[in-house]
Amino acid sequence: MSEIELSGLEKRYGDELAVEDVSVTIEDGELLCLLGPSGSGKSTTLRMIAGLTSPTDGTVHIGADDVTDRPAYDRTTATVFQDWALFPHKTVLENVAFGLRMQSASKDERRERAREMLERVEMADHADDNPTNLSGGQKQRVALARSLAVNPDVLLLDEPLSNLDKRLREDMQIELREIHEDLEKTFVHVTHDQDEAFTLADRIGIMADGELVQVGDPHEVYENP
Ligand code: ADP
Ligand code: ADP
Repeated sequence: MSEIELSGLEKRYGDELAVEDVSVTIEDGELLCLLGPSGSGKSTTLRMIAGLTSPTDGTVHIGADDVTDRPAYDRTTATVFQDWALFPHKTVLENVAFGLRMQSASKDERRERAREMLERVEMADHADDNPTNLSGGQKQRVALARSLAVNPDVLLLDEPLSNLDKRLREDMQIELREIHEDLEKTFVHVTHDQDEAFTLADRIGIMADGELVQVGDPHEVYENP
């Protein structure tokens, strides 16, 4: 069970209200896109779901658990960022296996699991490559494999495709959609790109000035922008 329930979520930075009274239930297995302009509070909301920043008010539940005060490593979430954050001195396979170091598996088991994940994102041929030599799209596939390797209940994606050119971005949108359908996990995907949200989302949450102003299926939010 990996339903996410945000209730009255708030984040203040000094006098600034970055996120204000966000309440929404994201269903188990759903792909929700948070869509809004830069500075509207999408990333801060995602970081509070991830446990990477603490809310100043409100709660985060994942499944039956109140995780509001739990650190990121103690949640069943994994996060993919815009800027890959791969280790340049490790191979592609080692980068993916690194995410598994906390799990009680042997080194061989970790490498096997990492290889499996690289196959899923069609990067198995690059297992022994240095990540610095990969294209942006390939790096993002490796980052995705690393996040999925730990078998999270919830995958959180913060503008994961924004550094890619348009053509590649469109291909990756379709692939992400396929991976989501395949895995049946809950995805929360942050983007400022309306087309991306419409391509990917089961439902779209529109953010403006720190508030979640609308949540609906793509058709509904398109009809009532
Ligand atoms: P988005 O992801 O929609 O671009 P953010 O969640 O990054 O928006 O930012 C929301 C608001 O919070 C912005 O006004 C931003 O400047 C502010 N903000 C974000 N992170 C911090 C921080 N660490 N310290 C101070 N202000 C921040
Ligand atoms: P927190 O300590 O609240 O978790 P951080 O200070 O680690 O947040 O910053 C979170 C992210 O927001 C970082 O990526 C940082 O670069 C960015 N950030 C920091 N200050 C600001 C700001 N004033 N406006 C926008 N983004 C900011």
